[in-house]
Amino acid sequence: MHVDRLLTTGDAVTGVEVTTGDETHTITADAVVLATGGFGANEKLLTRYRPELSGYRTTNQPGATGDGLQLARQVGAELVDMKQVQVHPTVQQDTDHAFLIGEAVRGEGAILVDRQGKRFVNELATRKVVTAAIEYLDEKGAYLIFDQSVRDRVKAIEFYDHVGLVTTGATLAELAEKIGFDAETLAATVTTWNTAVATKHDGAFGRTTGLDRELTQAPYFAIHVAPAVHYTMGGVRINAQTQVLREDGTPITGLFAAGEVAGGLHGNNRIGGNSIAETVVFGLQSVAKLG
Ligand SMILES: Cc1cc2nc3c(=O)[nH]c(=O)nc-3n(C[C@H](O)[C@H](O)[C@H](O)COP(=O)(O)OP(=O)(O)OC[C@H]3O[C@@H](n4cnc5c(N)ncnc54)[C@H](O)[C@@H]3O)c2cc1C
Repeated sequence: MHVDRLLTTGDAVTGVEVTTGDETHTITADAVVLATGGFGANEKLLTRYRPELSGYRTTNQPGATGDGLQLARQVGAELVDMKQVQVHPTVQQDTDHAFLIGEAVRGEGAILVDRQGKRFVNELATRKVVTAAIEYLDEKGAYLIFDQSVRDRVKAIEFYDHVGLVTTGATLAELAEKIGFDAETLAATVTTWNTAVATKHDGAFGRTTGLDRELTQAPYFAIHVAPAVHYTMGGVRINAQTQVLREDGTPITGLFAAGEVAGGLHGNNRIGGNSIAETVVFGLQSVAKLG
């Protein structure tokens, strides 16, 4: 079922027009809650607000089209923060599908290296900072490097390997050869990193978290990653009751929004993990306001 239009009576939203197959239906309601998600999969809309992201892949499902923004605009809603798009730094995208390689891999001890096999950033800086550092390399991405001890801590790696995203080396030298790195440089990088872990002092990049395990347990692994569009912080302006607002700040009667379709909550850099909380909290707020 696809929502094509919001129905109005006077200034109030009183339902939706939908299509299912070849049929069009109207559904009347006391109120409508927009929960249509973000627009990370709508390249046209993305590049209208962020032209430099043209051609980027996305971690989002194909339904993240931003339809809710269009629906809300048609009844006078204001859009906010539309230029604020979060780009995730570690996305494996060498196949038809873009796979987000979660922060847990770095959090449990993986490092990021450039094509020379050298670290170049605090891997656990914000997504924005790590993305910028990878872009600055201008090498079409970077490589996550980790060992069996990290793999043992992150069950998702089993899936990443199952779908062919992981390169394995029985030794660090074999891994270096398989991914086309200079073995001595990669070994030196890992040795320096292991010292940082042992002393809890990352003199090179100031990493202070994810320093729990040295990379010493064979086999060793690599995942090629690059930044991809992940989350759209912009959307329809709402108030604390999740009512959708016009440009003059007045609420549109009968229209609410919850989740990624709403803008203005996360500023310019959403902190990972709080979107699901947003969908639930603001969804409940809508229901509470509706009484
Ligand atoms: C790979 C990945 C990992 C993530 N990990 C986390 C995490 O660990 N923690 C966290 O908090 N967040 C995470 N996020 C972000 C979070 O998942 C999303 O922000 C959240 O799911 C958005 O929920 P939503 O209900 O607003 O929209 P969605 O879940 O996108 O749902 C919107 C639905 O509306 C449908 N729709 C759109 N337009 C129409 C229309 N016109 N008619 C009918 N239906 C329509 C869409 O098809 C979709 O089914 C992750 C996102 C991705 C992509």
